[in-house]
Amino acid sequence: MKTMFDLTGKVAIVTGGNGGIGLGVARGLASAGAAVVVAGRNATKSAAAVRNLAALGATAGQIEVDVRDETSVRSMVASAVARHGRLDILVNNAGINVRKPPHEIALSEWTQVIETNLTSAYLCSHAAYPHMKAAGGGKIVNIGSMMSIFGTSYTPAYAASKGGIVQFTKACATAWARDNIQVNAVLPGWIDTDLTTRARQEVAGLHDRVLARTPAGRWGTPDDHAGIAVFLCSRASDFVTGTAIPVDGGYSVQG
Ligand code: NDP
Repeated sequence: MKTMFDLTGKVAIVTGGNGGIGLGVARGLASAGAAVVVAGRNATKSAAAVRNLAALGATAGQIEVDVRDETSVRSMVASAVARHGRLDILVNNAGINVRKPPHEIALSEWTQVIETNLTSAYLCSHAAYPHMKAAGGGKIVNIGSMMSIFGTSYTPAYAASKGGIVQFTKACATAWARDNIQVNAVLPGWIDTDLTTRARQEVAGLHDRVLARTPAGRWGTPDDHAGIAVFLCSRASDFVTGTAIPVDGGYSVQG
């Protein structure tokens, strides 16, 4: 069983791996033996994340990237492959939110959210695919949300991007199954990160509403995503593709 989840010798890129859920995912992959490239905009945050991963005994490094920018993404993938000689795992995690109702969100804000959360997954997957195909396989994990399933009045672009990410996951899963590349989505519930610290400031009563609706009775943590990431990036999930798995303490099945 141990070897089924062993990622020794594998190379992973985690976008937004320098904090929050991305760092929880990176810590899981690193603990299972993968070399992890943390890809974000904030170099200081990334350096701290690399130190955190190195303390687990992992090979870790950082690359600065803007996931909205095709040239930057291509350079990120090329640098990771040049550094480590291969690319086995891509986690499309980078994301933002703009909380405004549909009649108030500006086009520039809509575009910023869609490009960061959805177009980025296309750009990164498109750039990673040839390396995974040439290596005989790979694993892609896209981070969705409860907004992949539900709507709220104040997240039109975010919900559109996270619904889109699930459908993009299915498209890539079917297209690349014969290349032995599995593509799955993870749908986090309400997780305590910088993103939701801001949400709690902007949305009155959110903290208590989440606690009341989550059967597990708590907010999630970034490390709650370590196990699912190892599963979806290891041999254990070789016949699992195109899925969208909630990691939400039961939030999405609460009646
Ligand atoms: P954080 O704000 O902590 O992390 C967001 C990450 O995205 C940061 O590491 C940031 O890196 C990176 N990022 C943002 N824009 C860019 C960009 N243009 N280029 C490169 N990196 C970028 O939030 P979370 O950890 O909470 O969110 C991570 C993912 O999980 C997102 O996709 C989010 O939608 C999703 N999610 C979060 C939930 C939650 O409850 N927290 C629930 C459901 C989904 P940097 O700081 O270097 O810019």
